[in-house]
Parts: sequence; structure tokens; C-alpha cells
Amino acid sequence: MPGGEARAADALAAATDSFSAVGIETPRLDAELLLAELAGTDRATLIVDRDLTLEPSVARAFSEAVRRRLRREPVAYILGSRGFRHIELLVDRRVLIPRPETEMLVELALEVGPTEVLEIGTGSGAIALAVADELPDSRVVATDVSDGALEVAIANARRLGLGERVEFRLGSLPEGSARFDLILANLPYVPDSDGLPPEVGQWEPEGALFGGPDGTDVIAEVLVGIGAAGIEAPVIGLEIGQGQGERVAAMLRASGWPETEVRLDLAGIDRVVVGRRSRPGVDA
Ligand code: GLN
Repeated sequence: MPGGEARAADALAAATDSFSAVGIETPRLDAELLLAELAGTDRATLIVDRDLTLEPSVARAFSEAVRRRLRREPVAYILGSRGFRHIELLVDRRVLIPRPETEMLVELALEVGPTEVLEIGTGSGAIALAVADELPDSRVVATDVSDGALEVAIANARRLGLGERVEFRLGSLPEGSARFDLILANLPYVPDSDGLPPEVGQWEPEGALFGGPDGTDVIAEVLVGIGAAGIEAPVIGLEIGQGQGERVAAMLRASGWPETEVRLDLAGIDRVVVGRRSRPGVDA
């Protein structure tokens, strides 16, 4: 072919320009992430090696990835995976893409050091699998109301070799009363009227995002369900969104976790509410 193969630097510049033109927030980064993966290299090499050329098959695959991204499909769905803590998770449109701020719930698990964990609304399995990965003595029961999400989570558990310690169940809560050392949940908490970026609103599963008029309906329902089922745990950690800290903390206090704490994420937004109940007989 006259002119030889496409230069990586040119392909990146063109993709970055077209991403910018449609208003994608991180055009250069997205182009680099897509090309690095497809070219089987890393971003540093792409940036440093000005003369890097692309095999025709890579150039074609990159054009297709760029076309998908221009329709605002998230990079993680195009690549089919996303890193979370120390693990890599398969993701597709059946599950919410794991967010960095959700790692705060895994950090809570490390502080508590639980053996028996319940995760409600596991999606890709990110929280349950990261907890199992980082706490080798833990066992996790993880639920989801979406069977499509559970298929993804189960595939992730198998791939990561964590299937023996993570048990997935369809539904909001596991059947029957049970005691856990820790309950974790990243439930849908986006207020129904909130506008979302196209990557989220047009691509990610609605059922994993929206939580009623003020965003806290699903959290409230699940807390009622936990009480009604007789599920117990001394500590609970819930992911929440902007401005929901005090409201959800009050719900936790009313649901039997009298000590509450709201944790902020790196952007200073209410992100996790922790509820603790004293052990019966200790200082009841
Ligand atoms: N953090 C997600 C977002 O704002 C929402 C996740 C959720 O509702 N659990 O896009």
C-alpha cells in the first residue's frame, strides 16, 4: 500500500479531534485507552514512540472502536472490561461499569475485616469479588434482581477463581434470616429527574441507576426488607450520591444502626454512609 501503514500518532490525533468535536470529556485519554488495548501495548509506549505504526488489522479495529465511542458508548463497554481494585472485571450493557469511588466500600470491608459478607445489588460482581480477593478468609453472598447482571458476575467469579467463596443469588435479598459481619450495597441512587451524561443515560442499565424522585427509594425499600427478613449485621455500608448523606444516615439510624458516619469521595461528595450497631450485651 503506498504510504505504508498508519502512524499511531496520526490515528490518535484524528480520533482525539473527532471525540472533542462531539463533546466527549476526555478525548485524548479515551483514544489512547482504546488504541493501547487494540495494539496490545500500553499508553506510555503510544505516547513516547512517535514512529509507531499500526498493523492494518489494528487500524481497522481502532476505526471501529472510534465509531462506537462517537456514539457515546463507554470505553469500558467497547473494551469489554474495567479494572477495579486489584481485579479486572468483564463488563457489558447488562451491568453498571464499576466506578473508582465504589472502591470506598471495599476499603470499609478491609477496616471491618469480616468473615461473612452480604452484598446487595452486585451488578458485575465488583464489590463482592474485590472483597473476596482482598480478604482471603471471607465468604460473600451477593444478590442481584437482574439475571443478566448475575450472569456477568458469575462469569467474573469463575474467571478470577473466586467462585468457591462468592455465592450469587437472584433477588434483592437472600432467603431467610441470616447473620453477616458486614452488609455492603451500591444500590441505584440517582434521582429520576437527574440528567446523566450520554455515556451513562444512553448506555448503562437504568435499573442500576435510578432510585425514585430523590434517589433514595430503593435504599429505603432494601432497608425495610433487611429488617423484615431478620437479616442482621453489626456494620452496613451504602454507596450514596450528592446530598444524600444525612437522609440515608437517618434511615440507617431508624433501621437499627444507631451510629452513623458519612464519608466523602475525592470530589468532596457524600459517597458512603456507614451504620454500626453495638453488639448485644456489650454496651446495649
Ligand atoms: N455513580 C453512578 C453515577 O452517578 C450511579 C451509581 C448508582 O446509582 N449506584 O453515574
